[in-house]
Amino acid sequence: MIRITELRLPLDHIPEALPAAIIDRLGIAGTDLLNFEVFKRGYDARKRDAIVLVYTLDIQVNNEAEVLARHQHDQHVRVAPDTNYKFVARLDAPVEARPVIVGFGPCGLMAALVLAQMGLRPIVLERGKKVRERTKDTWGLWRKNKLNTQSNVQFGEGGAGTFSDGKLYSQIKDPHHYGRKVLTEFVKAGAPEEILYVSKPHIGTFRLVSMIENMRTEIESLGGEIRFEQQVTDVIIEKDQLRGVIVNSEQELRTDHVILALGHSARDTFEMLHERGVFMEAKPFSIGFRIEHPQSLIDRARFGKSAGNPLLGAADYKIVHHAKNGRGVYSFCMCPGGRVVAATSEEGHVVTNGMSQYSRNERNANAGIVVGITPDDYPGGPLAGIAFQRQWEKRAYELGGGTYEAPAQLVGDFIKGKASTSLGDVIPSYEPGVHLTDLATALPDYAIQAIREALPAFDRQIKGFNRYDAVLTGVETRTSSPLRITRGENLQSLNIRGLYPAGEGAGYAGGILSAGVDGIKVAETVAIDLIKSCTAQ
Ligand code: FAD
Repeated sequence: MIRITELRLPLDHIPEALPAAIIDRLGIAGTDLLNFEVFKRGYDARKRDAIVLVYTLDIQVNNEAEVLARHQHDQHVRVAPDTNYKFVARLDAPVEARPVIVGFGPCGLMAALVLAQMGLRPIVLERGKKVRERTKDTWGLWRKNKLNTQSNVQFGEGGAGTFSDGKLYSQIKDPHHYGRKVLTEFVKAGAPEEILYVSKPHIGTFRLVSMIENMRTEIESLGGEIRFEQQVTDVIIEKDQLRGVIVNSEQELRTDHVILALGHSARDTFEMLHERGVFMEAKPFSIGFRIEHPQSLIDRARFGKSAGNPLLGAADYKIVHHAKNGRGVYSFCMCPGGRVVAATSEEGHVVTNGMSQYSRNERNANAGIVVGITPDDYPGGPLAGIAFQRQWEKRAYELGGGTYEAPAQLVGDFIKGKASTSLGDVIPSYEPGVHLTDLATALPDYAIQAIREALPAFDRQIKGFNRYDAVLTGVETRTSSPLRITRGENLQSLNIRGLYPAGEGAGYAGGILSAGVDGIKVAETVAIDLIKSCTAQ
């Protein structure tokens, strides 16, 4: 099979143009093209009046070796890599020792699935509820201002990405094609097949819910167990070796292999692990606001007259500005045609994030506009970033009026430094509602200054970005984990054997896809270690 990359055709090309372009590109006779498949389809919208589709294609031809030899100096014509997933082990008969996974977000889910598929019968402990019950609790905050601290946007089956835009792309290096395994499993569980070939796949919230249930069923059918409302409250460590965990402060579960897939909001668990001496260190993350514009503004700015073309979908953006005070300001987790959501897991805090449905057809586009910060901004050790996040989340709660409404301000007023008193045409989507105010004290001064400078600069990239009545809602603090539970080359904690920190909470992923990929990577290492220790006994 031959892979061609970077084959570019106009957005409105007819279907026959694709095989014709392949024949032309390879310089073969039409009869020598046996078959082709689109591996990826992206677009290049840098010239918005001449948008092109960019294909990666897998192709079968007559005389493949000869065609490849003729193109040996062409980096865009190569042998197609084998992206099928290969298990590192597969057991015919179960072994007694069972790995334990803490957390059932994308990282824990993929780790559990792969371990179950290998025959290792994992036990998953998840502090939150099953996804359908969790959905009700999450809506409880959005509709009735009532937070359940164990069952919310951050905690419960499916993890933090369940109520999300379901974007499934990542910049990580993935030489073993684990990302393909994640996407393939998602499709098996009910995700749209196109996620395998579009360059910026997304699923949206509703589909994620049923997919997660289907994946749970598969894990259980292979002998795995998923135990809900089971919070790991302590760890049993003997001579630097993990020997088990304590669940809900009472029940002991013995095991020598624990994957910690906690997510970035498990602050109580981080505190407990720190107290037990598990090595961790503060790491950089970002803070800021969510911004909302009409989606039609973003579509026009990015796609010009092609706005609305179904092959392009709702437009997204990625923008960066280097502020004079040395801070980087950038867009984060942009959600086309979606809504801003209340994402706190702690009482008396307000946190924003974004989600959408598969159709991405809601009125507003939203994105985090965030400023990079480092441990120098919150000195005080590994847990200082959590204290810093809490400080600004509490401040947002106060500025929002103390009811879980979020503080908000029009962009024009924010730049002028005056409190907003009424909305313009952009109606904020945040539930349970926004409280118009002045956001000047919602973040540290350096962040406010940097965002004030960045918004007009972004307007030069996306016309209308700085419009007066675009809405800022605060605060965006859970952009990634504020700490890293550092692991060594064997993927175990630097100082505790048998403890495998993984995913976003441990500082090794940022997003659904990369968390799933990390879950697979860690699961493979656990499988090899566990089988070795069983055969050594
Ligand atoms: P998580 O998904 O956070 O899962 C951790 C799990 O561990 C949770 O279910 C939690 O309940 C459980 N847990 C924690 N502590 C304990 C304990 N002590 N005992 C037992 N269980 C415990 N990423 C994208 O790539 N695309 C998007 O479109 C996107 N949109 C997002 C929208 C929102 C609203 C949010 C909140 C996040 C979004 N993200 C998105 C980020 C993405 O969700 C995370 O990067 C990803 O979920 C991290 O996966 P994880 O498995 O490492 O952790």
